[in-house]
Amino acid sequence: MNSDPNLLNDVKDHVCTCAEGLKFTPDIEEFLKIPMRELYVSLPINMDDGSIKVFKGFRVQYNEALGPTKGGIRFHPEETIETIRALAALMTWKCALHELPLGGAKGGIICNPKELSHLELERLSRAYIRGVYQIIGPDRDVPAPDVYTNPQVMAWMMDEYSKLAGKNVFGIITGKPTSLGGSAGRYDATARGGWYAIKEAAKELGLELKDATVAVQGFGNAGYHAAYLAKKLFGCRVVAVSDSKGGIYSEKGLDPEDVSGHKVSTGSVLGYPGSTNITNEEVLELDVDILIPAALENVITEENAGQVKAKILAELANGPTSKDAEPILLTNEVHVIPDILCNGGGVTVSYFEMVQNQYSMQWDEEEVQEKLSRRMKKAYHSVLDFSRRNNIGMRQAAYTLAVGRVVEAMQLRGWI
Ligand code: GLU
Repeated sequence: MNSDPNLLNDVKDHVCTCAEGLKFTPDIEEFLKIPMRELYVSLPINMDDGSIKVFKGFRVQYNEALGPTKGGIRFHPEETIETIRALAALMTWKCALHELPLGGAKGGIICNPKELSHLELERLSRAYIRGVYQIIGPDRDVPAPDVYTNPQVMAWMMDEYSKLAGKNVFGIITGKPTSLGGSAGRYDATARGGWYAIKEAAKELGLELKDATVAVQGFGNAGYHAAYLAKKLFGCRVVAVSDSKGGIYSEKGLDPEDVSGHKVSTGSVLGYPGSTNITNEEVLELDVDILIPAALENVITEENAGQVKAKILAELANGPTSKDAEPILLTNEVHVIPDILCNGGGVTVSYFEMVQNQYSMQWDEEEVQEKLSRRMKKAYHSVLDFSRRNNIGMRQAAYTLAVGRVVEAMQLRGWI
């Protein structure tokens, strides 16, 4: 994870750019650069060895003009409040861009989940919910999975909230297991939504997806499914994938399911039979048709942006491209599908989960995918049209559309 203040500064800079385009006043601009609410919590946990360790956590509710706030919870050893704040802002713009009746939030705990036992992880997850209980709720703020959190963590969190509330409150969190009110199709929604957008982009560029080459950075939920669906949905050739330890390359293409098996048994994608080990940086610079950063923020910067050779840069991670990399990508005519557009499939299906929970309904996977596909297609084309009409890049177009909707809601509510 690179220096956190950069992402926050970049997010603020984007608001300034929107303020110019949308011509709103400095007061509105200032309001949009700060979160509405932040909570810091200390979480004392009984460790398996009998000691007590105190973990730090945060929840940032950035803006609730459009509805209850929404956004994931990250467990990461290098977590900071600045990163969480920036990501909460991105959630606000993401929900607005995808026309969801939701605001934006993000949470995190500074911890290394890989070093915690199953029971320690459960205690920590439950303690976090006790810490933030007062400010979350199905019509206030609804958390979800993010970096290093998963459906099991969501199940513990839902259970803890329900115990405190004295009743089942499935709608408190999304990304739950399907047996506990989770939505069908949530598990691969981020990657699948990204691919629905890439499909539209490929049509625009005249790129044939069958046998198109793809490199994916990151092999967590988003990265693995991005690689898997590339092959399954479109017959693309996935030539490179990576995880936190490094990447692998194979010109003839990798089988993502088999690579996943290798990672489960060895702890990494590295050393996968028939592939060459490469670095995470090299993955970004490969001569491929589609590059998908699907891990952490700030990986494409002013230093390496000139080396990106992909025709389409599909940002499944949040904030993978720094602001000073943007002009270089634009000059080199890389078609960027910006994060708030590309990875909005996750929160879109989370929104479907909220709706299903409210009505005690369960939609089947086909219904979820069909609704997701329609929404991603619409969001992609609204950004593309706006960017063409105003002769601006895809990222600026996405931000301007999103921030404009949040400002309109704040004005209609009489906040500003
Ligand atoms: N963590 C995901 C994101 O960054 C999903 C958030 C959600 O489902 O609320 O978009």
